[in-house]
Amino acid sequence: MHSNRSLLDIDRDHLIHPVTSFRGHEAHGALLLESGKGMWLKDVEGRELIDAFAGLWCVNVGYGQDSIAEAAAEQMRRLPYATGYFHFGSEPAVKLAQQLVDLSPEGLDHVYFTLGGSDAVDSAIRYITHYHNAIGKPEKKQFIALERGYHGSSSTGAGLTALANFHRGFDLPLRWQHHIASPYPYRSDLEGDDAAIIARSVQELKDKVAQLGADNVAAFFCEPIQGSGGVIVPPVGWLKAMRETCTQLDILFVTDEVITGFGRTGPMFACEAEGVTPDLMTLAKGLTAGYVPMGALLMSGKVYEGIANGAAPEVAIGHGATYSGHPVSAAVGLEVLRLYTDGGILANGQRVATRFDAGLAGLANHPMVGDTRGRGLLGAIELVADKGSKARFDPGLKLADRLFAKAYDNGVIFRAFADNIIGLAPALCASDGEMDEIFARIAKTLDDLLEEADIRAAL
Ligand code: PMP
Repeated sequence: MHSNRSLLDIDRDHLIHPVTSFRGHEAHGALLLESGKGMWLKDVEGRELIDAFAGLWCVNVGYGQDSIAEAAAEQMRRLPYATGYFHFGSEPAVKLAQQLVDLSPEGLDHVYFTLGGSDAVDSAIRYITHYHNAIGKPEKKQFIALERGYHGSSSTGAGLTALANFHRGFDLPLRWQHHIASPYPYRSDLEGDDAAIIARSVQELKDKVAQLGADNVAAFFCEPIQGSGGVIVPPVGWLKAMRETCTQLDILFVTDEVITGFGRTGPMFACEAEGVTPDLMTLAKGLTAGYVPMGALLMSGKVYEGIANGAAPEVAIGHGATYSGHPVSAAVGLEVLRLYTDGGILANGQRVATRFDAGLAGLANHPMVGDTRGRGLLGAIELVADKGSKARFDPGLKLADRLFAKAYDNGVIFRAFADNIIGLAPALCASDGEMDEIFARIAKTLDDLLEEADIRAAL
């Protein structure tokens, strides 16, 4: 107990946590986790928690998979590091590149490895810029993305991200970064008319490109399902329509599958469900299931060849990192991919998604719930103060913080977004019983909150 207390003090005094208010964290203190197995986590107080968010939408194979630890240890003993510079490489990185090319939509033939999602996005921006210069279209420098989108927090990617706290105080977005509305069915005046929602997004993209000048636009970035913006699920057919529009407008189409990749929404990649091949695709999270850091940027032959044949094809292209294609991360990635496919975890995720849907549907009539939505094992429950007008709860109630804290007391972890959306992304290894347990604990959490006078009064 004493040592835990001092760890909390050290954390408060010295450790800066990602995407956290410094003062808010000092007041709250750290929630230190100690161990995990399958769907379950244990904190340093010994409390058992079921993780309905797979860490940060990443531990898709669950905690405590020994074969991954063994793959990492074996690679560390044999060869802990190999640079990718100067034509060096390592067997796991080459094999992983091959597997990603085989698994991803036809036409994505080249892989650049990164350390995570933010630098996969950052690499995409840099390579796209290089590409347009290389093919003699240097005026193509404007980038478009979606409002409520998340594309990481690199110094340029955070400007494609369209969440206010990623811009505030950081002088973002940059002048070449633009956004169009999110296809958010629940909060659209077109709710229920999928074709009209799709048509509106297509028109907004065309209008934005016309406004910027058709010859000036480099690329459109989107998540197939917006994650950090509140798990916003566009109508089926939306991704394909946006792909076709980008082709017509001669702008590159980039899908950010950092969350949706590796079976999260059902198929291996979300764009497969619509038969879409992007020009570039960013991956991370499920690639190594969070066991070690790694991301990837997949690139079509068209973009690769354009860069390869650029103005100075014999000069090294100045983009790279010490740990690109890290052999230990790649060895972990290979074992994680084996667990998805031969290990049956992808198939289990597809099977248990029916139970997940049933759990979401079971909460739809709760007095605090305005909307439930999901695809595969990615879902959300949006809480509202008034179901008819869809009015949000008064921010003064600090409902998101209370929701998270109450859920923690009830032994379930999920994402509690600031606008009172519960984000869910359980690991693909969940059993039916564990899925039911997650929803039982969420239901109890909502019922407990409903007992609190100020929340009941707000309804
Ligand atoms: N893109 C998307 C769609 C993401 O969800 C994330 C992370 N949540 C990122 C990029 C950034 O990835 P990372 O946090 O690994 O840098």
